[in-house]
Amino acid sequence: MLNIVKVRLYPNEEQKTILHKTFGSVRFVYNIMLDKKIKAYEKDKTSISTFTLIKELPQMKKFDFEWLKEVDSTALQQSIKNMDKAYQGFFKLKRGYPKFKSRHHSKQTYQTTTAQIKNEKLYLAKIGLIEMRGFREFGGKLKTVSVSFEANQYHASLLFDDEKEFIQPSHNGKKVGLDIGVAIFATLSNGKMHMPLKLDKEIKKIKKAQKSLSRKKKGSNNRIKSKQKLQKKHLKISNKRKDFLHKLSNEITSENQTIVIEKLKIKNMTKSAIGTVEEPKKSSGKRGLNRVITQQSWGIFFEMLKYKSEKKGGEVIEVDPKFTSQKCSCCGHISKENRKSQSKFKCIQCQFELNADLNASINILNSVGHMEKAS
Ligand SMILES: [Zn+2]
Repeated sequence: MLNIVKVRLYPNEEQKTILHKTFGSVRFVYNIMLDKKIKAYEKDKTSISTFTLIKELPQMKKFDFEWLKEVDSTALQQSIKNMDKAYQGFFKLKRGYPKFKSRHHSKQTYQTTTAQIKNEKLYLAKIGLIEMRGFREFGGKLKTVSVSFEANQYHASLLFDDEKEFIQPSHNGKKVGLDIGVAIFATLSNGKMHMPLKLDKEIKKIKKAQKSLSRKKKGSNNRIKSKQKLQKKHLKISNKRKDFLHKLSNEITSENQTIVIEKLKIKNMTKSAIGTVEEPKKSSGKRGLNRVITQQSWGIFFEMLKYKSEKKGGEVIEVDPKFTSQKCSCCGHISKENRKSQSKFKCIQCQFELNADLNASINILNSVGHMEKAS
């Protein structure tokens, strides 16, 4: 089984220099090899293999691009593999060619296979031991490390393989319906409720940073600094949210073998809903932003539930969200009038009363039975 551990890196100045050289070299190799591949294809429809391209690296280092010797060679090889993967993907979809990598991209990354954990530090080839924080021991072999630089911070994702095929599936037979919402993040049909992550403080800080950014002159140094500050705050929220979603999805998938959820209608979950870092949408006030962050979390949360459940030998079933909030989970009567308020459900036919989210989660669970009967 594979486990990913995310850590923050604290390289010294010398290490930073080599890290940035590596980001640059990896990008350079990516672009030059992509260009080769495209040209060969356009010339006579030939496809150059990853293997052939990797074999060219030593020659490049010997003659025209000696500086490539200064960086981790497995990172360069990995870059070619990544390029080829992207190329194959585009080719399959008949979408032309992947984009060349720009050094102006806000996130810079590279992957390497020559890495080790030593004395709670991360050893990377050509760079040495780097201080890190956030490391948790999972056991297993360190397979690949993905190093990234974004918003002035260095992070690494460490991929471990414990070489065990599967963990013992949890066949406890527990089946649960899950309703998702803004006020209560997740309500389970067994009565458990999980409140959303509180981000008021962080959002306030983001608003402040956005305001400060909007006052800076375009193209000025102050604007660049301001933008970095804002990106850092966004990154913080994003990390906090991921952490929250991981914990919650771990808990729910460990306790239940089958989880029934609603098919999400993906709406307002794109960047255009909140705007970009530079130009946030005016309409997204504190509450608006909070809402968007919650809604964006749903998709990520459901993906986590799916893969974690699968890993543990359970399953996630998606059902049609029709009427789940208006239907009485007791007698089955469907009416808009049943929903007295955002949080209160009271059936006009049988007088059954329940928290509205809980009522919905029971309906979600029950709709699986209906599906099975129907088919
Ligand atoms: Zn009823």
